[in-house]
Amino acid sequence: MIQKNMLYVHCPICGREVCKSGEGTNTEQNCPKCKSVLSYAVENDTVRVHVVKASDKKKVS
Ligand SMILES: [Zn+2]
Repeated sequence: MIQKNMLYVHCPICGREVCKSGEGTNTEQNCPKCKSVLSYAVENDTVRVHVVKASDKKKVS
């Protein structure tokens, strides 16, 4: 068995690391920092993050 790499999922709103996730994942989760609702999928070693509901907190940059 080949151990699949776990990929980091980052919130596109605030940049916070939300979790690590493996191939085939398709999950919806709240960002622990800005509370945006994110959905993400891992396919072919690529993380695709979609913002379901953006937080009303603005990104501090
Ligand atoms: Zn966030």
